Amino acid sequence: MKAPKVSASAKTAGRDGGAEFSDPDKARIVEVFNSLQGEGTRLGERQIFVRFGGCNLHCDYCDEPDTIPIPSGEVWPRAKLEREILRLAAEKRPRSISWTGGEPLLHATFLEKSLAWARAQGFQNYLETNGVLAAALPAVAPLCDVIAMDLKLPSATGRELWSAHHAFLKIAPDKTFVKVVLTRDSNEREWRQAIRLLQEAGPQIPLILQPATAAKDSRGTGKLIEPIEPERAVAFLRQARGLLKVVRLVPQWHPVWALP
Ligand code: SF4
Repeated sequence: MKAPKVSASAKTAGRDGGAEFSDPDKARIVEVFNSLQGEGTRLGERQIFVRFGGCNLHCDYCDEPDTIPIPSGEVWPRAKLEREILRLAAEKRPRSISWTGGEPLLHATFLEKSLAWARAQGFQNYLETNGVLAAALPAVAPLCDVIAMDLKLPSATGRELWSAHHAFLKIAPDKTFVKVVLTRDSNEREWRQAIRLLQEAGPQIPLILQPATAAKDSRGTGKLIEPIEPERAVAFLRQARGLLKVVRLVPQWHPVWALP
């Protein structure tokens, strides 16, 4: 598998991606747009999406592979981003801004200032993250209203990220929900481990099971990544339901609604 370009360890969070990643006034951005949230606990909510460039992981099911390379996107000064958000909000006022990627926490210093500005403008902050850069989270967590954390199964990344996820989940469990994308390759052993991790880190943290949307492997193997079989998804759901407080099976709605 392709090696990650930036360490996932908490120690290096958001500081090893090059000088541009530690600039509080500039960041790499791929796109900014106004749409509906198609996943998770805020499904259907209107949001402005700010998609950062660059990711420290490489999931086989990634539906935004253009955001993975470091660098990707273009350098945006903060003032340009703020203008664009206000322009989009004037057309259709959203409740919140989804800070997404790529991995937004690679741009932690820029993100911290942007979240504070967004709060002052009356927006809620919804952070979408792969949940491994724990050292970057404490500065931004107080400015977040929702932290949508992906829990990455080894079958999707080729890596064991349990301890990084555990450290991340301990920081702001009251604002966090966890989403796990399930493919045909997701297996019982890693699912049991994911449930154990959530039991330890916070059994009250909502868990969303999301069958993957069928697509070619983002790592260029030519393999088709297919959603988990419905009967296995339901079996996974039942297994988690007895052990965690809130468990839901929520498919991804962007493809169904034909949203960006
Ligand atoms: S799915 Fe998210 S974490 Fe995984 S490679 Fe794509 S952007 Fe990175």
